[in-house]
Amino acid sequence: MEQQKRICVLGAGIVGMTTAFMLKEKHAEWDVTIIADKFEQDTLSDVAAGIFRPSTSFKGPSPEITKQWLVDAYHHYKKIQNSIKTVEAGVQEVSGYVFSSKFPEVTKNQFLEDLLPVYRPANALELQICPGNWKYGAFFTTLVIESRYHLPWLRKKFEMIGGKIVKRTIPINSFNDVDDYDLVINCTGFGAKKLCLDHDLVPIRGQVFKVKAPWVKMFFYGDYDTYIIPGIDFVTLGGCRQFDSFKEEVDKYDSASIWERCTELLPNLKNAEVTREVAGLRPHRIPVRVEKDIVTTSSGKHLNIVHHYGHGGYGVTTAPGTAKYAVQLAEEVLSGTKSKPLSKL
Ligand SMILES: Cc1cc2nc3c(=O)[nH]c(=O)nc-3n(C[C@H](O)[C@H](O)[C@H](O)COP(=O)(O)OP(=O)(O)OC[C@H]3O[C@@H](n4cnc5c(N)ncnc54)[C@H](O)[C@@H]3O)c2cc1C
Repeated sequence: MEQQKRICVLGAGIVGMTTAFMLKEKHAEWDVTIIADKFEQDTLSDVAAGIFRPSTSFKGPSPEITKQWLVDAYHHYKKIQNSIKTVEAGVQEVSGYVFSSKFPEVTKNQFLEDLLPVYRPANALELQICPGNWKYGAFFTTLVIESRYHLPWLRKKFEMIGGKIVKRTIPINSFNDVDDYDLVINCTGFGAKKLCLDHDLVPIRGQVFKVKAPWVKMFFYGDYDTYIIPGIDFVTLGGCRQFDSFKEEVDKYDSASIWERCTELLPNLKNAEVTREVAGLRPHRIPVRVEKDIVTTSSGKHLNIVHHYGHGGYGVTTAPGTAKYAVQLAEEVLSGTKSKPLSKL
């Protein structure tokens, strides 16, 4: 009989929760524990609007793998959306427009054009739907995955099949606390910067309003990171993308700019009730890190790690695709495919 494997998934954002659930669902006999210091509404994943819209620059280790991640992620969510669990799981279909007054390229997306059932240029009448001098546009139908529903849904499913959850902080630059596991899957998002001293991981700061505006049924993107994305209970208004900015607090100048840009794009948002404003640091890394490693801890132990972080502004979009890949790497590690120690703490 196969010896029981003990696996620790570090991190309980969309990446960690999805990975842990997929692992436990596929290998019921493995002992899977999630360790994290923040859960659900305290994670970055809760800040996201959750629209399935990868950037054209989203990058994995190769173009083929990147494409496979996106295909796997989309079909994973689409299957949930087609099931009766849609509302509970926070996955719903949404259509809308991307407009630009100057840049035709922002209305194109090679990943989505290949994947979505509807992705087409906006016609002349559609370019007049929103105030503004819109010259270029695209209409498409995609998915919104709302972490506020999806994370508790995943947690419930994970615990129902025997997954364990522990609240704990892992000290900076040290995996010593978890070196008694057969494998650690490191899904710490921006936390990996300190945990692994990863200089390639850079914050891209974002800020959004969450408003009550149930009359908004479609998403709209305008120039300069302006977006309006309806979820189940709230509409997310954004935004900004500030490279290498570590400011976690809401910035009043960004608030003013976001409010002005969004209400210009959709004037009836002026009547919306603001329920909260929040900022977050997108864990940006090129490429996203999903790879095997062996760390020698200070006690001299060789610890197997699968790193799984650095999804930038697209972690909700891509989590199921990268998680499937991370699970494959975990299986390779636990089946005894040997690799040499790479990192030393
Ligand atoms: C304004 C904004 C809007 C966004 N909109 C979208 C969108 O529409 N679509 C999309 O796909 N993406 C979007 N994103 C990006 C998305 O939020 C991230 O890519 C995603 O949340 C990353 O998930 P994660 O699980 O890696 O990280 P997180 O959600 O940050 O989770 C990290 C986990 O690791 C744990 N952790 C970290 N360090 C430690 C430690 N030392 N010890 C213990 N635990 C630790 C944390 O407690 C947490 O549980 C947006 C981001 C922002 C800021």
